[in-house]
Amino acid sequence: MSPTHSPAGAARQGSLRELNLALVLGRIAAAERPPSRADLATATGLTRATVSAVVEDLLAGQLVSEAEPAPRVGAGRPARGLVLADQGPAGLGLEVNVDYLAVCVVDLAGQVRHHTVHRADLRPVAPADALTHLVELAGQARADAARQGLTLAGAALAVPGLVDDAGLVRLAPNLGWQDVPVPELLGAHPPLTDQVPGVPPLVVDNEANLAALGELHGRPPGPASFLHISGEVGIGAGIVLDGALFRGVRGWSGEIGHLPVDPQGRPCRCGGRGCLEQYAGQEAIVAAAGLARAELPADTATARLAELAEAGDPDALRALRDAGTALGVAVAGVVNLLDLDTVVLGGGYAPLAPWLCPPVLTEIAGRVLTAAWSPVTVRPSTLGPEAAAVGAAGSVVRHIVGRPAGWLTRSA
Ligand SMILES: [Zn+2]
Repeated sequence: MSPTHSPAGAARQGSLRELNLALVLGRIAAAERPPSRADLATATGLTRATVSAVVEDLLAGQLVSEAEPAPRVGAGRPARGLVLADQGPAGLGLEVNVDYLAVCVVDLAGQVRHHTVHRADLRPVAPADALTHLVELAGQARADAARQGLTLAGAALAVPGLVDDAGLVRLAPNLGWQDVPVPELLGAHPPLTDQVPGVPPLVVDNEANLAALGELHGRPPGPASFLHISGEVGIGAGIVLDGALFRGVRGWSGEIGHLPVDPQGRPCRCGGRGCLEQYAGQEAIVAAAGLARAELPADTATARLAELAEAGDPDALRALRDAGTALGVAVAGVVNLLDLDTVVLGGGYAPLAPWLCPPVLTEIAGRVLTAAWSPVTVRPSTLGPEAAAVGAAGSVVRHIVGRPAGWLTRSA
C-alpha cells in the first residue's frame, strides 16, 4: 500500500486541501483588486495547477465568483479576477439592546443584505420574551436571505452586558438581565441558521466587542489599534490592540461606562458613584437637554438631540458639550494608559459625533501627555448606529472565510 493511500496520508491530503482552500480564499478576501489565478499563484506560492483546482472548488461551492473582465491590456485574453460571492453562505447578526432589537444578514463580501430594527423599551420585557421576538425577526431575515440566494451559516448575538464563554449573560445592568442562559433559551426554538461544520451555530458576545470587530474588519478596515466606544443607554468600549480584540482575563474588558469621572458624583446602577454613564449615557444626555425620554418614542431620542443641536438649541448643545467633556475625561485616561491614536464613536454616539468630538478632543489635548506631538483622531463609526449587529454577522462570515472546507463539505 502506498503511503498516500494510508489513512494518515489521506488525512494529510485532506488537511492540505483545507489549508489551500483557506489560503486562496483568504487572499481573495484581502485583495484590493480582484486577483487572477496567476496573481493567486504568485501570492500563495502554490502552483498554477493547484490554484486552478482550488478555485474550481471555491466557485462550485459559491464562495467566490468571477469578476467582470478587466479592460484588455496588450494582446491575449484578459484574465478574469476573482471576488467573494454575493450568493452562498452569509452570517446572521443579532442584537438585543435596551431600547431595540436588531437583525442583519451580511454576505461574504461584507455587504449588508438585510437589516431590521425593532424599537421597543425592553427593560420591562422578560428575557425569554425578548428572545422569542428576536427569533421571529431572525426567521424573516432567513426567508429574505433565501430569496437572495443566501444561506445563513451561523449566528452571533450582541448583548449590552457581561457574557461568559458559554454564552451565559452574567449581567446586563441596563436591561435588568442577570444570569440569563441565552443559548438555552434560544435552543427552545427551531435553529436560526443552517448547520455548517467549523462555524459555531450561535456565539453570544458583548455588543461593544462585536461593534469594534465590525469596525476592525470593515471596508475600509479600521486601524490595527483603536478604542471603539458604543454609546447607548449604557456605554461600552471595545479595545483593539495590534489587530485583535483585547478581551481581558475573563472576557469582560471595556466597561468604560463605569470609569469614574467624578468620584463623589451621582450614584450609578453598578453601585459606584460618578460613573461616566451617569453623565454621557443616552438617558443622561436626554435628561440634561431637558427632554423627557418618556415623551419620545425610543428611536427618536438620539435623532431629536441631533436635530435640536443642528438648530442651535442651547440646552441640547450644553448637554452634548457636558457629555463630551465627561467622555473626554474617560477617554484621555484610556489613551494615557494604552497609547492609542484613534478613538471611534459608535452606536448612538455616531450621529452625535459632530457635537461630541470637539469637547472630547479638548479633554484629550489637556490630559494626554503625548497629545502635543502625537495627535489622537476621534471620529464616528462607519458602520452606523446598529454596528454591533453588523459586526456580529461579520464575525460569522470570518469563520466561513477562515475555514471554507466546512461549508464545502456541507454543500457537497
Ligand atoms: Zn457605574
